[in-house]
Amino acid sequence: MADQNCAHSGCECEVEQGKGVSKDGELFCSDHCANAGASGSGNCGCGHADCR
Ligand SMILES: [Zn+2]
Ligand SMILES: [Zn+2]
Repeated sequence: MADQNCAHSGCECEVEQGKGVSKDGELFCSDHCANAGASGSGNCGCGHADCR
């Protein structure tokens, strides 16, 4: 039950505990989202199947 949503706004991925990328105290599903940061606009481009 430790899954957490990716901190990237626009991303709807869930990040499994022990996976993902933590940056600046936030947890992201991927390097893509970590580089984009917690803010940002438009669609997420992380490429995960569950994510638009
Ligand atoms: Zn995403
Ligand atoms: Zn993400």
